[in-house]
Amino acid sequence: MRRYYIKTYGCQMNVADSEKLQNVVRGMGYEEAAEAEQADLILINTCVVRQNAEDRAAWYITSAKGLKKENPNLKIGVCGCIVTEPGRDLKKQFPHVDFFIPPNSPGKLAEFLKPSPPGRGGTVERQRVRAEGSTFVNIAHGCDNYCSYCVVPYVRGRETSRPMDEVLAEIKGLMEKGAGDITLLGQNVNSYKYGLANLLKAIGPLVPGTRDQVPVIRFMTSHPKDMTDEIIETVAELPCVAKEFHLPLQSGDNEILKKMNRGYTVEYFKDRIEKIRSLMPDARITTDLMVGFPGETAEQFENSLDLVKTIAFKAVNMFAYSPRPQTAAAKMPDQLPDEVKQARLQKLIGAVRKMLI
Ligand code: SF4
Repeated sequence: MRRYYIKTYGCQMNVADSEKLQNVVRGMGYEEAAEAEQADLILINTCVVRQNAEDRAAWYITSAKGLKKENPNLKIGVCGCIVTEPGRDLKKQFPHVDFFIPPNSPGKLAEFLKPSPPGRGGTVERQRVRAEGSTFVNIAHGCDNYCSYCVVPYVRGRETSRPMDEVLAEIKGLMEKGAGDITLLGQNVNSYKYGLANLLKAIGPLVPGTRDQVPVIRFMTSHPKDMTDEIIETVAELPCVAKEFHLPLQSGDNEILKKMNRGYTVEYFKDRIEKIRSLMPDARITTDLMVGFPGETAEQFENSLDLVKTIAFKAVNMFAYSPRPQTAAAKMPDQLPDEVKQARLQKLIGAVRKMLI
């Protein structure tokens, strides 16, 4: 029996992509190995959104070379965002890797692997029901927003939305198989072409159970600029939709938000929070915050700190800015020294810890 091992870096989009890769290899007769050392196929699903994630993935790819000496039949595949990162020559950098698969292209994996063993089907299930946690359903891919610090539009391409019928059929199938929680995924689910509110309303009747006992629908990631009243009101109305909002703020300073090309102001962001809380006082609201954006002054950083305290998020993902290839922010003057970025990050982490205790 051939065995596979998948190492995943990055966000839920990558976790969802890894699930699809897993479905492909299972359909081809592979079984999961507990450790990379026991595998005949290693897939490394990469993330390049931050330098740190990219470095860790690159280190793992390099270190997998040693396993090939112990198992000459081992195949190594690198997947995800590093494959489409501009300016990379992966074949040169990682000559021991057998194949490279761009993000959201699980079908290409079957092309790289040998035909299925006799007696095993080659069918690829689009999505399997996960034993634990939430099942991910992609509703959109790519992003058109071009936030100035973000490499995603360059590595995942332009935004495309899956047809609503297709999404609903997938969710119906998952429900019939007993799925519990389902998370609708996209880089910006709020700009889903056919309307996120419309989609949520159409999912409602598919969800079995009573008001107190229903599978829960979640969605992520939301872009604050596209968080409409209609979406908020729909979440408030539908019992099957979790009262949870992950709204990445990124900065609490209007000038920095503008340089980030985020498309909203602090005032608009606060208005969205007020709208949510006016309809769902107990809603769980979480965010992402970046410190050390090029040119960020001490005062602008303090604005972020103050806003985080004022809004009182339930959780905050915190990062220090790191320049990404091709992005507008990477070319901006006034890149801050690492010591400054790290000091701000530690200060923010300390403040958020106090706030959450
Ligand atoms: S919305 Fe901005 S941060 Fe999010 S994926 Fe698109 S470009 Fe990146």
